[in-house]
Amino acid sequence: MKASVFHQHGGPEVLKYEDVPEPKPGSRDVVIQVKAAGCNYNDLWARQGLPGMKFDLPHISGSDAAGVVKEIGSEVTSVKVGQEVVVHPAISCRICEACTRGQEYFCRYFKIWGFQTGPLDGAHAEYARIPEANAVPKPARLSWEEAASIPLVLLTAWHMLVTRARLLPGEDVLVWGAGSGIGSIAIQIGKLIGARVIAVAGTDAKCEKAKALGADHVINHASQDVVGEVRKITNKKGVDVVFEHVGQATWERSIATMNWGGRLVICGNTTGFEAKTDLRFLFNKQLSLLGSHQGSKAELLEGLRLVEAGKIKPVVDRVIPLKDAAEAQRLMESRAQFGKLVLVP
Ligand SMILES: [Zn+2]
Repeated sequence: MKASVFHQHGGPEVLKYEDVPEPKPGSRDVVIQVKAAGCNYNDLWARQGLPGMKFDLPHISGSDAAGVVKEIGSEVTSVKVGQEVVVHPAISCRICEACTRGQEYFCRYFKIWGFQTGPLDGAHAEYARIPEANAVPKPARLSWEEAASIPLVLLTAWHMLVTRARLLPGEDVLVWGAGSGIGSIAIQIGKLIGARVIAVAGTDAKCEKAKALGADHVINHASQDVVGEVRKITNKKGVDVVFEHVGQATWERSIATMNWGGRLVICGNTTGFEAKTDLRFLFNKQLSLLGSHQGSKAELLEGLRLVEAGKIKPVVDRVIPLKDAAEAQRLMESRAQFGKLVLVP
């Protein structure tokens, strides 16, 4: 089969579109024919390599796939050949205390599929192997491209806002990176909960699109002072929840925009991981700083029900042939998109 593979870490040029053996299912695995696969920031991190993290090479990236089940292992009972599925992109043992509590992300065997798995084994290929437990019915109303764009960002944003920050109706939430895949979903979850959403993006065009997705207010961080604008919008109160995934470049402003008793929830750091926190704000204002890492299969299913109901919409910026995966990664690095980039074999 054809796949987008890298054999060594480096720039987008290390991605090769080449022939690799088709995956074979283990007894509890299924193999899907990939109809479409989403791009995520972790594709870039794996390809670049991360200090202190070992990747098994050669590696196929891609944590989001939608496709048709082509082959099932001998002990698979819940999935049938021909079924249309998307991938729950978290591998865990499903036996331990954390897993059986519905907190797979605390499992000692937890891995993000397509990021920490390997050698090979991700979505950016014609076929992909996943454990039976990770095959989730594809929302029928979505196209392949839409379906492939949504699981990882939906799961991550849902866990952040619903489970970790416990965002409430009537609260104010600040969403950084409104043009990113995860930002475009966070805006919609915030509105569904009944919060007032203040979205931040880097261009006026992205701000307009964030508004169209339901954001009540938008701030262009390239031309406006985010902290000052939040103070104006909230009448000096500050926001109750900050949705963070940018990290170093935004952290101090995030803290400065928070209401007394506010919660900041963070799932990543696309601009760096060293950030300064003025502890006086932390204790005086009784702030909560909440880490978040992916989510459970149950949370993905909850979110997908709202997708199926048409209440959360995938935001696909563009669809790109799988052979041009390197080009897709260059686009992501330049933050040229609004929403998700999707690859099709
Ligand atoms: Zn476990």
